[in-house]
Amino acid sequence: YQRMVLAARPRGAVQVGNFRLETVEARALEDGEVLVRNEWLSLDPYMRGRMSEAKSYAVPQALDETMIGATAGYVVASRDAHFAVGDAVTGMLGWAEMGIAAGDALRKVDTARVALSAYLGVAGMPGVTAWYGLHEIMRPRAGETIVVSAAAGAVGSVVGQLAKRLGCRAVGIAGGPEKCRYVVEELGFDACVDYKAGNLKADLKAATPDGVDGVFENVGGVIFDTTLTRMNAFGRVALCGLIAGYNGDPQPLHNLKSILLNRLTVRGFIITEHPEVWPAALADLEPLVAAGQLKYRESIADGLASAPAALVGLLSGANFGKQLVHLP
Ligand code: NDP
Repeated sequence: YQRMVLAARPRGAVQVGNFRLETVEARALEDGEVLVRNEWLSLDPYMRGRMSEAKSYAVPQALDETMIGATAGYVVASRDAHFAVGDAVTGMLGWAEMGIAAGDALRKVDTARVALSAYLGVAGMPGVTAWYGLHEIMRPRAGETIVVSAAAGAVGSVVGQLAKRLGCRAVGIAGGPEKCRYVVEELGFDACVDYKAGNLKADLKAATPDGVDGVFENVGGVIFDTTLTRMNAFGRVALCGLIAGYNGDPQPLHNLKSILLNRLTVRGFIITEHPEVWPAALADLEPLVAAGQLKYRESIADGLASAPAALVGLLSGANFGKQLVHLP
């Protein structure tokens, strides 16, 4: 089967040439192990961090090894009594068409009501991230205004829809008129500001007439800096991601004083450190997805060979919704 390894660490932006496709043989299973044919590979912004050697909350991706990644697929052989051939599972089998995992590192999923791919998005890590940052960190009340950046993306799209369910005014920030139209008309946000239109400060002010009580920050840079100018007293910032700076470009922060003047709470979080919230989060998310009350959109790249270009695209906004790779 084919796998993609990290061939070289990027300097600045990720290049397609940082990766190398290889063909390898599957080894024999040991007791407790399961062989999975991956149908979907999830591409996520954290992968940019793993490609570097800089100190982080996680160890760097090793060179010449299968690139890390979440996958969804079907069991093709099993030496764990809990898994049978044909079971649908998610795991961390990486950028590969097949993989072997210990049974306890796999999650069996029900594809009868929720599509397999959605367990990598709205009913998976990005959905749980949105749920946790909103409910456990920002904790908005009905009537408050919340702002979420990268609003058309995997995490942001869930944040705004959940905030609407809490009775908040949900305002998105996204790149381009098409994404903004989707955020308002399909996802039901109250407003969406296109930061590429060139009037971010004025447009965000118009979209938040009562100021901002909660921020779910996915981008950083000019976007977060501008949002700080709209904060109300005792606002909360759930700092989820800073994608605008992942390639190492310096990021402006001129409005730091807003944190002091408005007595803001700013709290970062890393969702993998909170495995205990998954059951409660998924108990909320899965039925909403199954009932069509939590909408999502996917950008699908075809085949493992297209994964590097799709990751480059994700890190520059070419994706529209959850970025996946379909492995035929
Ligand atoms: P998305 O589906 O939102 O895709 C990334 C989006 O980020 C792009 O579509 C683009 O949207 C925007 N973007 C990319 N580059 C830039 C840039 N240079 N400047 C401004 N915007 C940019 O990805 P996810 O939903 O998976 O992730 C969203 C954020 O959440 C990321 O920052 C990620 O690191 C973070 N995250 C954090 C977790 C945690 O535990 N803390 C867990 C999961 C995700 P647009 O076209 O609108 O600009």
